[in-house]
Amino acid sequence: MELPFAEAYKIKMVEPLRKSTREEREQWIKEAHYNLFGLKSDMVYIDCITDSGTGAMSDRQWAAMMMGDEAYAGARSFFHLKETITKITGFEWIIPTHQGRAAENVLFSYLVKEGDIVPGNSHFDTTKGHIEGRKAFAVDCTIDEAKDTQLEIPFKGNVDLNKLEKCLAENADKIPFIIVTITNNTAGGQPVSMENLRGVRAIADKYGKRVLFDSARFVENAYFIKTREAGYADKTIKAICREMFNLADGMTMSSKKDGLVNMGGFIATRHEDWYEGAKGFCIRYEGFLTYGGMNGRDMDALAVGLDENTELETIETRIKQVQYLAARLDEFGIPYQRPVGGHALFVDASLILTNVPKEEFPAQTLAIELYKEAGVRGCEIGYILADRDPITRENRFGGLDLLRLCIARRTYTNNHMDVIAVALKNVFDRRNEIKHGYRITWEAPLLRHFTVQLEPVQE
Ligand SMILES: *Cc1c(COP(=O)(O)O)cnc(C)c1O
Repeated sequence: MELPFAEAYKIKMVEPLRKSTREEREQWIKEAHYNLFGLKSDMVYIDCITDSGTGAMSDRQWAAMMMGDEAYAGARSFFHLKETITKITGFEWIIPTHQGRAAENVLFSYLVKEGDIVPGNSHFDTTKGHIEGRKAFAVDCTIDEAKDTQLEIPFKGNVDLNKLEKCLAENADKIPFIIVTITNNTAGGQPVSMENLRGVRAIADKYGKRVLFDSARFVENAYFIKTREAGYADKTIKAICREMFNLADGMTMSSKKDGLVNMGGFIATRHEDWYEGAKGFCIRYEGFLTYGGMNGRDMDALAVGLDENTELETIETRIKQVQYLAARLDEFGIPYQRPVGGHALFVDASLILTNVPKEEFPAQTLAIELYKEAGVRGCEIGYILADRDPITRENRFGGLDLLRLCIARRTYTNNHMDVIAVALKNVFDRRNEIKHGYRITWEAPLLRHFTVQLEPVQE
């Protein structure tokens, strides 16, 4: 008999979890103005709000932290990190930052000007925020198939090369760079194929533009290339990562994802002029160039994390857990963005809460119901997150309305996955009784989903 798949690690330290009652949760979510970001983590049993900075570090990472060098200038830890990044990506110019959006802030302060256009595949919310906040425009060139959550194609995060080329042809002089998000977070953690990355490169070269990878989950992307794209099955994850980055000019990174650390980020590029242009903004916003908002010990932990995660066993364990949860949802017939992506399940609220009008935010409603049901905290990736149109100030209802259930790296067991699946099934079974959602009572002008306040819409 073939041995079953199991985690590529054993557990060395544990943190007790607290369960709560439905009555407690109903009170807590009301006090949080029906915004799941407003809950204290102790009010949550299984936390799927994000996979960002929520993973468990390995013994090797903790050991590396003891070797950290907290020197302000020239820290040894920085050079460990730099060597590792260069080994994996080929990029030689590195600027550490305290997290991914800080990398965007530093680099975009140099590159993005008012009136610019930055085409890409479903820009991540902070990425879009850093573009629109500079009065520039993020043009989404994702393939249309990404919008059909039930369509089963291997690389649903791809850039539509025709849309990209059209954007370049029409606006070449206004485009500072092209951004490709790997994996495509907003479209459901969906990967981008190597072939597509090559296509983007060819168009960029034709118009003399540079390509930036928003790389938070580049290892997951490499794993999908290995398992889904012809010609990659026998290549190592590290070799695939190198091949991907050979097609880019630089990257912004949220190390809180595939860096396997709880905080951190960086910019890496092959171009000295990008480094020279951005470095002053690092000093202004983040700190000196050899720490950029990070502790020396955290840079050491990140160096080890990047090296560990680009090994097959680590990334395979992670993806297989997400796929395990997806298989449980399949059993119950619960619709989610197919095929399941790398870091999360994106449950399609618009196919479940069909009685809740879009103006009442079905995905947010589903997230609240799931929390009340079992203390499982997910996150709306839908109409609230989409913010308002910067010009018309209307809600943007054109995209998907999803409940995202992120899986933290090396944190929960498959028993927890079972709890999540059954809790969701219980809500799913009474979906037709849910007729109303929520209305906004307060919102911020940008990135509103983090702080939005809501109230239930009554009959
Ligand atoms: C998380 C993330 C960011 C921002 O990184 P932070 O570390 O959260 O600031 C940018 N892009 C993508 C694709 C992300 O997933």
